[in-house]
Amino acid sequence: MKAVAVVPGTRELGLIEQEDPAIAAPTHVKLRMLDVGVCGTDREICAFQYGIPPEGTEHLVIGHESLGEVAEIGAGVARLRPGDLVVPMVRRPCPHDDCVACRAGRQDFCFTGDFSERGIKGVHGFMTELVVDDERYMHVVPRGLRDVAVLVEPLTIAEKALIQVDQVQQRLPWACGACHRAVVIGAGPVGLLGAMALRARGFDTSVYSREPAPNPKADVVASIGARYFSAQDTTLEELAEGVGNIDLVYEATGASAVAFQMMKVVGTNGIFVFTGVPGRKAAIEVDTDVIMRNLVLRNQVVFGTVNAGVEAFQAAIRDVALFQERWPSAVRALITGRYPVEAHRDLLVGPAQGIKNVLTFA
Ligand code: BGC
Repeated sequence: MKAVAVVPGTRELGLIEQEDPAIAAPTHVKLRMLDVGVCGTDREICAFQYGIPPEGTEHLVIGHESLGEVAEIGAGVARLRPGDLVVPMVRRPCPHDDCVACRAGRQDFCFTGDFSERGIKGVHGFMTELVVDDERYMHVVPRGLRDVAVLVEPLTIAEKALIQVDQVQQRLPWACGACHRAVVIGAGPVGLLGAMALRARGFDTSVYSREPAPNPKADVVASIGARYFSAQDTTLEELAEGVGNIDLVYEATGASAVAFQMMKVVGTNGIFVFTGVPGRKAAIEVDTDVIMRNLVLRNQVVFGTVNAGVEAFQAAIRDVALFQERWPSAVRALITGRYPVEAHRDLLVGPAQGIKNVLTFA
C-alpha cells in the first residue's frame, strides 16, 4: 500500500510502498483511511524541523489529522463495527510507571516527554491507505459528518483549551452566559475552528490576523458572527478599544512577537492561551514590566496547551456537528480542497495556500 513518508537522514519526502498492516491483538482495528488533513506540523516535519521516525527506522510515515472507516476488527473489539467512521487520537502513552498522566489515560499531559505521536514522533502516521491501531484510541463519528470529520482533530486543540479555561476560571465568578469577549490570534484552521468553538459558546469573538480584508478567512469569520481585524490596519491598542475588556485570548499562529504584544492588552481577570509552536527565530524585545504588572494587578492567567484527551475529542465531534448545522457554508469553506495522495508534495512543501487542504484515499 502507498504511504507518504519523510526520511530525515537524507531529507527526502515521497510516496513509498509498504506492506499492508495486520491485526495483531484482539483489541486492534484496521482502518481504511479516507481523509488526512495537512497542517503546519506536517509542513515542519517535511522541512525537517520536527518529527522523529520510529526507533530502528529511517523513515516516518506522516499524517495525524484523519478520518478512517473501520475495515476489520479483532476478536476482542467491543465498541466498533466494520463500516463505522472513526477519528483516531494522535498521542500514545509513555511506558513509565510513575507517569501518573499516561497511566490515567491522559498522555496529552505526559510528564516524561517519552510519549509517542502517530505521524509525528516515534510511530508512523495516517497518510496511508490502511492503519492498524487499538480501539481505545478511536472516536466514532456519525455518517452525516463524513465530509467534515477531518476537522475534528484540529478542533480538539480548542476544545482542550476551552475545557481548561472553564476549569481555571472557576477561580472567580465567571459564568455569565454570553458576556465574555474573546480574541483569536490567527485565521488559519486552528484559529477559525477556535473562533467557531467560542461563538458556539456565546463569546463575542474577534479574530486578529495578518491579511487585509476582504479575504476568504475574513468571510468565514463574518459568517459565524465574529469580527475580523487585520494587523495591517489595526494596532493592538485599536483592537482592544474595539473589543472592550478582553476576557480570553486564544493564540493560534505560533508568532511569538504578536502574541507577547497582545499580552499587554488582555483585560481584567483575563486568560491567555498559547497553542502555537514557534520556529526558532531571533530574540525579540518584550516589555516584561507591563506584562508582569498586568498579570498581577489584573489577576491574569497564561497557559499553554498541546494535544488532547478523550473529553476534547468527544466535544470536538459534538461541535463539528453543531457548526455544520449552524454554519454549513463556513464549515465547508474551511476545507480548501481534497487532493489525491499524488499531490502531497505541493501541499506539504509548496507555498502555503487556502485554509485546510486534505489528501484523500477514498
Ligand atoms: C497535533 C498534536 C500534537 C502537536 C505536537 C499538533 O499538530 O495536532 O496532536 O500533539 O502537534 O506534536
